[in-house]
Amino acid sequence: MKKTSSMKIKIIFSISILICILISCQDTIKVNGSDEKAASVDKDTVIRHEEYTGTEPTDPEETEYYKPKVPRVNPGLEGSPPSDAVVLFDGKDLNQWISAKTKNEAKWTLNGDGSMTVADDVGSIMTKQNFGDIQLHIEWKSSKEEKGEGQHTGNSGIFLNGMYEIQVLNDTDTYVNGMVGSVYKQGPPLAISSAPIGEWNVFDMIYHAPKFNRDDEKIKSGTITIFHNGVIVQDHTEIKGTTPYIGWPKNPAHGNGPLILQAHGEKGQVSHVSYRNIWLREL
Ligand code: MG
Repeated sequence: MKKTSSMKIKIIFSISILICILISCQDTIKVNGSDEKAASVDKDTVIRHEEYTGTEPTDPEETEYYKPKVPRVNPGLEGSPPSDAVVLFDGKDLNQWISAKTKNEAKWTLNGDGSMTVADDVGSIMTKQNFGDIQLHIEWKSSKEEKGEGQHTGNSGIFLNGMYEIQVLNDTDTYVNGMVGSVYKQGPPLAISSAPIGEWNVFDMIYHAPKFNRDDEKIKSGTITIFHNGVIVQDHTEIKGTTPYIGWPKNPAHGNGPLILQAHGEKGQVSHVSYRNIWLREL
């Protein structure tokens, strides 16, 4: 019995050695044979297409690179934010927000179900923190009791950089460059993809801020891409400037700015729009 076991061990050991030699030979063949060129590629070097002008690569490894490393982000599952997100509102408090007018406490109504609602006589609220380029996730709904028409039903808005309004509105007949998902007074949405009034909508956006030179002249426009309930409604749209109710877009130079949520209405009577699950990732 003992002899048989010893033989078995010897055979396994010999096979292992053989496998190792074969693998080692393969590497040698690759380095010294037809793949010599690939072996000389520095895997830490970022390869640029222009470096290949006039020389078509003949080996797959010539067009592969390994740095900079790609960060791992734990995705938010079942409505929770990704691991690297800045959480601006998770339903617990309004600590990340202040009144846009007074800069005091943001006294919108906390509903206890993870949402907050625009309150009469409080006005718009803004983040304490400033941001530039962002990926933004935000959920909103209007009140089922909204009875208005045109711009007076479920009107709110999300101001990027504190000055470029993405319109929040019920699905209603109004000017197309003021419909829900529009860059207000500039870019109509590609589609209306609203949930029924009183149900939650989701906006996912990618915003790139405009660039200004040292003389405060705009040298590159901001852009916005928006998915409304998963449907693309802005496709890398150029933001022409500010989004006033009256007047053309203006282009004052600016750096990072807050996110503002609009309380839209007159004389304390506002559209009672609610928000929840607000987070962003800085790009
Ligand atoms: Mg609005």
